Formats: sequence, C-alpha cells, structure tokens
Amino acid sequence: MYIGIDIGGTHTRVASGAQGKIQQRLDFPTKEFKQGIQDIKEAVQKVSSEKIERVVIGLPGPIETKTGKLLEPPNLVGWDRVNVADTFSKILNAQVVVEHDVSVAALGESLYGAGAGKNPVLYITVSTGIGMGLVVDGKIYKGVYNPEAGEQILSKAGPTCSCGQESDLESLSAGSSLKRLTGKDPKDLVGSKAWTDAMDWLGIGITNSILHYSPEIVVIGGGLSEAGDRFFDPVRKSVKKHLKILPQVPIVPAALAPNSGLIGAITLAETSN
Ligand SMILES: [Zn+2]
Repeated sequence: MYIGIDIGGTHTRVASGAQGKIQQRLDFPTKEFKQGIQDIKEAVQKVSSEKIERVVIGLPGPIETKTGKLLEPPNLVGWDRVNVADTFSKILNAQVVVEHDVSVAALGESLYGAGAGKNPVLYITVSTGIGMGLVVDGKIYKGVYNPEAGEQILSKAGPTCSCGQESDLESLSAGSSLKRLTGKDPKDLVGSKAWTDAMDWLGIGITNSILHYSPEIVVIGGGLSEAGDRFFDPVRKSVKKHLKILPQVPIVPAALAPNSGLIGAITLAETSN
C-alpha cells in the first residue's frame, strides 16, 4: 500500500492510492510540529488498510535533496532543520521519502494530468505563494536543494518578499503580493489593473522559465488559477509578448487539482526505491 502526504502551511492532506487514483483521503489543519506529526500518524493509520510499502511526503521547501532535511520553511511552525524522512520513518515504521510539494504535484500532473504525454513538463502553482516544479523523462528535476523558480528575481528594486529577496516573482505576482498592494482578497481583484499587472509579471517569470528549461507544456494550478480564462488569458498574453526566440508553449490548467500533490506523492511512492 502506498501513502501520499501533502503538508502545506494551512492544510495537511493524507491519502492512500495507486496508479493515479486516490482510495482514501483525509484533510485537516496543519499544526505546529509536535501536534502535526501526531495528527499525521493517526491519519495514516485511518487511510491504510494493509501493510504500508512506502510513504512520500510533499513539503514546502527549501529541502536538502540528499538528506530530506528541511531548512527553514517560512510557513511551518517548529519544522526548522527537521529531518522529515528520519522522523516519519520511525513514527510510521515504513520507508519514507521527502520531496518538494510543488515537484510532487508536477509529477502527478505530468503522468496522470494535464501534462500526460508531454516532456519536459513545467508545473507552476500560483496561490498565496508561487512554486515551480519540472519533470524530465518522467522524473522530478532536482538540484542540491529543490530549485525555487517561483522566487526568481525579476527586477533590481521593488517589494520585499517573505523570503527576504526583493522584486522576485512571488513578491510581484502571488496572492500575498496582491493583498499587500491593495489590502483586498485576490479573488475580489480578478480583472483589475493590479491583477493584470501581477499576471504580466507572472508571464515574464514563466517566459524566463521557458527559456531555461524549454518545456513542452506549462501546467498551472493553485488558488489564483481557479479564476479560469481571467487568469490564463492575461498570462498567455504576457508570455506571447515577451517570448521571442522560442515558439510559444501551451499554458494549461492543472487537471488533477486539488489532488495534484497527493496523486504525485502516491506515484512517487509507487515508483521510487
Ligand atoms: Zn521570495
């Protein structure tokens, strides 16, 4: 039996499943570390009816790829420098693999979602923050740490991001940026000037990432993308305006949302050894 766990700043999701399908799934608020690991242990017991073969945990970065050790995730309390793989393999008595949350979502979308049959697949989540993951030949691209292309710097000076950088993609385009600029919920800003400006910056960031990786498709998930055409039209327009040296790349909505991460985690649990 394979288990996928997706630990986000507000929600934790735990599911069992196989071959792109979820069998049982639980969703609960993310607590500080000590309570959080207890909640996850109980949830794993509830969703698993037989012996667990492997568990994959998707987490916000940065993560040291070789060891599965977290650095200092800005949105998780008490998780700084925790070796998540070691901690959970003891608690769950199973093999545990730790991976960047956006990268596992990228894997799910590339195998069973909007990126199926395409290679490489660039996946982007745009919600409170922005994250990117790349799947090449069916495998997650990794560096020493998971790459943080959602934090790519787009200008010399400007707003400071929660990560400490100035004028990075997240500080210019994420939901948190729209909220800081206007004091309003991003959902109430769809179609406004602030919204279009943010989507233009997002298109510039995506153009840079297309130039770096030359993906066959760009798949976008996350809360802001739920605005549909009012999200995708300005983003596609921006990429069309900025990308010159390479042909245009299809930019499409995630097909497995909101389960892209869980399905990707279960897939990685099935395929890693
Ligand atoms: Zn940042």
